[in-house]
Amino acid sequence: MLNIVLFGPPGAGKGTQSEKIIAKYRLTHISTGDLFRNHLGEGTALGLEAKKYMNEGKLVPDALVIDMVEVKIRETRDAYGFIFDGFPRTVEQAKALDKVMRKFNYEISGMVALEVPEKELKKRIKLRALTSGRVDDQDDEKINTRIRVYEEETLPVAKYYQQQGKYQGVSGIGSIDNIFKEIARVIDLI
Ligand code: AMP
Repeated sequence: MLNIVLFGPPGAGKGTQSEKIIAKYRLTHISTGDLFRNHLGEGTALGLEAKKYMNEGKLVPDALVIDMVEVKIRETRDAYGFIFDGFPRTVEQAKALDKVMRKFNYEISGMVALEVPEKELKKRIKLRALTSGRVDDQDDEKINTRIRVYEEETLPVAKYYQQQGKYQGVSGIGSIDNIFKEIARVIDLI
């Protein structure tokens, strides 16, 4: 079973590359951002609670995220493998994910981290804002908050996997296809 954590700052291209990874490796996609947006669209209690944080560019509390992911894993138990996108975003979430995976006798195979400089991230998020309809893509302050939250709370997650020898960095600069080729190369080594 291949279970990948796709990691990177907001605007690094995780969503775009996830689609290509799923198609090639037949993995089940678990994007916590997408799951929260679905809850929001359906007007569930979880969606309404998450919205308060999402619209400010802040992280939704760990317990809410972890429970939602566990439900999703449980629902998809016959999966060929999982790709986690936008999760885990704190070390607490990473530890909880290990625990949930162990429960099902699964484990994280490796992390693929997209590396993109901050200036390029802002450019991409503003371009995405034209079509995404996402409140958190729309203004500089929210974009800056998301990048700061990434640096302070999410970057330590990379170290968590590095210490286990599971970290693979990939440059997220270049054409979508070339970046994907490099991702596929490192996944094949996992
Ligand atoms: P994303 O689509 O991954 O950029 O996520 C959009 C927003 O959803 C984030 O800015 C957070 O408010 C929330 N979110 C998504 N995933 C997580 C997570 N793993 N932990 C906490 N909040 C999250």
